[in-house]
Amino acid sequence: MIKAVRGTRDLLPPDTETWNRVEAKVRDVFERYNFHEIRTPVFEDTALFARGVGEETDIVSKEMFTWEDKARAQSEKSQQLTLRPENTAGVVRAYIEHKLGQSGALQKLYYIGPQFRRERPQKGRYRQFFQIGAEVIGPPTSGSESPSRDAEIIEMLATLLEDVGLTGWTLFINSVGDANCRPAYNEALRVALATVKDRMCGDCQRRAETNPLRVLDCKVPEDQPIIDALPKIGDYLDDACRAHFTAVRAMLDKVGVPYTVNPRMVRGLDYYTRTTFEFTHGELGAQSAVLGGGRYDGLSEALDGPKAPGIGFAIGEDRLIMALQASQPAAVLTIDAYVAPLGPNTNAEALGICRKLRRQGLKVELGDESFRLKKSFEAAERAGARFIVICGENEVTNNEFSVKHLATGEQVSVARAELAIYIRNHGVKKPGGEHTAPDDLQ
Ligand code: ATP
Ligand code: MG
Repeated sequence: MIKAVRGTRDLLPPDTETWNRVEAKVRDVFERYNFHEIRTPVFEDTALFARGVGEETDIVSKEMFTWEDKARAQSEKSQQLTLRPENTAGVVRAYIEHKLGQSGALQKLYYIGPQFRRERPQKGRYRQFFQIGAEVIGPPTSGSESPSRDAEIIEMLATLLEDVGLTGWTLFINSVGDANCRPAYNEALRVALATVKDRMCGDCQRRAETNPLRVLDCKVPEDQPIIDALPKIGDYLDDACRAHFTAVRAMLDKVGVPYTVNPRMVRGLDYYTRTTFEFTHGELGAQSAVLGGGRYDGLSEALDGPKAPGIGFAIGEDRLIMALQASQPAAVLTIDAYVAPLGPNTNAEALGICRKLRRQGLKVELGDESFRLKKSFEAAERAGARFIVICGENEVTNNEFSVKHLATGEQVSVARAELAIYIRNHGVKKPGGEHTAPDDLQ
């Protein structure tokens, strides 16, 4: 038997109801904040990630699905391609390629889609997973550098999580400085690491030389006390970075979004500057980060683009849904009505009724005339139907159909023209109440 590949999974009903509900809510939030959707390819030139994410990151150094796409004609060259491990690099590439900055307007873009990383599969960690993300990017004259952008995006996330129904999250923020002040911090880290790195893991020993900031990402438990004692980036910020961070925090304080400053949080991508942030949730265990993001003021230039400061985030949708499902009952699949053709030559009539009801916006399932009454009721129950509409020969002749409310057993006869109205208005669960019985019929 062929099975789904390790680290990938099928999302099945009724879970997909939750996924769709979350995505609909999220799109609604993005719309209110004036974001528009972008869809970039699932694979890109490997160089985009090597340069846009950073060679020393976990993603590029060990997690990418990369292959050589061999030339198929003499005129073609073979190419190194990679399944996208994240979407920011792709969005910024598209921003540059399509000259989205030319209008001078701030670009507010969002995406929802699969990402691919070759990591060890475990709870909350897959090789194909989904991210919901957004980027705010534009020429400096568009206001893209303003701390308002950072605060607005973080405030939007607090609203978004509230709208999808997630409570109990924690927001961590930090500033990682910029090209002006980070070299001094990197140097301080290098000096401090020189005396302690021999006691650290292999990755840290290497990074202490190549990219000391990445040491702060290390997850090896024995290294943690050593890392906690290293110099803090907050003590090395220059005046401009410090003022930016102070402004972001003041705005979050003003609008009442609670946060904790975590001086160690540098996040896993090399291109981050100034503000970085992460939302965590207690239900998620070891993989506690629901989302992460930050500012990336030099990324466009690193990809040969124009100066285009930006800030963005990516929500791990799998983890978001896992956290939601821990606190919410599982989705139940239901329909408004099950139409049961009973007796020979009633299938076409039943399809006609279904067509009419569906065109009026009702969720309806069609039975089959080979079913007896008992089997039709069983099928209606299994489909989660509120009503069963009996479509027998007599009903068709009289143009009146027996409609039975499954929860109460009440049965009435309803004229064909009234079916949709009757089903829509009766037996609907009132908020917090019982089902209304069909004899409520005015
Ligand atoms: P982690 O520290 O958990 O590896 P990360 O820093 O690699 O996270 P980002 O690159 O910032 O993650 O991605 C943003 C979000 O995407 C994470 O907060 C997480 O919710 C989710 N995510 C990252 N990798 C995976 C994965 N392999 N499977 C499921 N979700 C993931
Ligand atoms: Mg990771």
